[in-house]
Amino acid sequence: MFQKVLVLIDHSEGRVPQVSLECCSLARRLTSKTNGKVNAVVLGSSLDGIRAAVEHLPVDRISFADDPLLEKYTPGAYVEALEQLITEDGPDVVLMGHTYQNMDLSPRLAARIRRALVTDCVAIREDEDPPVFVHPMFHGKLNADIRVRSPKPWLVTIQSGAFGGRTDERGTPEIEARTVHIDSDAIHREFLEEVSVTADRVDLTKAEIIVGVGRGVRNEENLSLIKDLASALGAEIGASRPIVDNGWLERDRQIGSSGQTVSPKLYFAIGISGAIQHIVGIRNSGCIVAINSDPNAPIFNVAAYGIVGDMAKVVPLLTEKIRQLKTG
Ligand code: FAD
Repeated sequence: MFQKVLVLIDHSEGRVPQVSLECCSLARRLTSKTNGKVNAVVLGSSLDGIRAAVEHLPVDRISFADDPLLEKYTPGAYVEALEQLITEDGPDVVLMGHTYQNMDLSPRLAARIRRALVTDCVAIREDEDPPVFVHPMFHGKLNADIRVRSPKPWLVTIQSGAFGGRTDERGTPEIEARTVHIDSDAIHREFLEEVSVTADRVDLTKAEIIVGVGRGVRNEENLSLIKDLASALGAEIGASRPIVDNGWLERDRQIGSSGQTVSPKLYFAIGISGAIQHIVGIRNSGCIVAINSDPNAPIFNVAAYGIVGDMAKVVPLLTEKIRQLKTG
């Protein structure tokens, strides 16, 4: 169905985010039936520093567009460069992570090339003709099935963690340098300064195990039970919003629609009711284990395993059991 897929690789300080790797893995899958080609594009200036991070991506070709005007992201320069690359390569689909940068970039690019854009895509039913793209709406309460009617290429931004896929896959792509011509008059924004909001931040997006704690913990002292469990598991601690609003944990640890979106292999929801604003942040977890005293708590609808009980009793038992298993 897809003969050619172009992937835009995000990067910062020589590192490529997980979601770009997931895009490569997805592009591979989308082209597997047709034996099609995947081309990954890296935009920037003085790109030597990023080379090691991308040269073994599981794609057919990596195109480096190196231009001083691409040194820092500006929508004007990026749209100019990508329009040229898309016109030259003629992909069927352009994939990029649903990152803050690409939320800004993708609608502008779609408007420039006058093609359809599907944002925050969480699934693709590629065996249907035409394929169906799934996009969550209203904080994930509804999923919209989207069939694109405009000519290709279609632009699609991908939700981090939604497609999983192997991000350790390696390939031996052909590497090429591409020249892009950027009209400096097209750049309407001046880059002043990068202010990192993640410098001292806990990045829960990379955690493999997260122990999430909610209002059911009842008081700040009981957080020690959660910390013990997290330490036994080697896990990060996350929280629902009331815990953060109470000032019991830092804002970085909030998971949900106004916090982080996580995709650990294992997520413990302890004393968390399962409000939709929390669920949207955890729905890409591999396995959800809920501990809640209310057997009708909505969290049990999304949990693979559930324990009905008082967290103050259940959590220490679980911690003890895990310690025993770990020490052998
Ligand atoms: P509650 O809903 O009060 O649930 C507590 C749970 O603990 C209950 O299910 C109860 O049965 C259980 N419990 C009680 N005692 C025990 C016990 N002893 N042992 C075990 N279980 C027990 N929320 C987020 O989490 N993240 C967000 O990003 C977020 N963004 C929001 C954005 C907006 C615009 C709005 C309006 C709300 C947002 N919320 C967010 C809040 C959200 O709507 C819920 O209010 C919140 O998720 C509830 O948190 P909770 O599950 O910890 O608390």
